[in-house]
Amino acid sequence: MHIDLFKYRAHSTGASSAHYGLCEVCHRYVSDVWIQVRFHFFAFQHAHEYHQGWAYDTSLFGHESCLRAHQRHSTQIPMNRSHDNPVLTTINQIILSAH
Ligand SMILES: [Zn+2]
Repeated sequence: MHIDLFKYRAHSTGASSAHYGLCEVCHRYVSDVWIQVRFHFFAFQHAHEYHQGWAYDTSLFGHESCLRAHQRHSTQIPMNRSHDNPVLTTINQIILSAH
């Protein structure tokens, strides 16, 4: 099952484009380069066991504002599709708690 559910961690590197290169979003010079790491949520059932967690997805260097604007937001799975599915129910709870 493919799930578009992401979370992000971002922090300043303390260095400029002279060290890390241009912003990967707008391709302009950055005086204070930030790094943003994206994780995606996974959940599946295998042999009656339920597995879930966050896995590294991708990372970006650039302006803090460019990185925030680049984030994708999760959409909730309709309840009428998820109420009898423990995997989808758990995903919806995570999305709701992130709002
Ligand atoms: Zn930028």
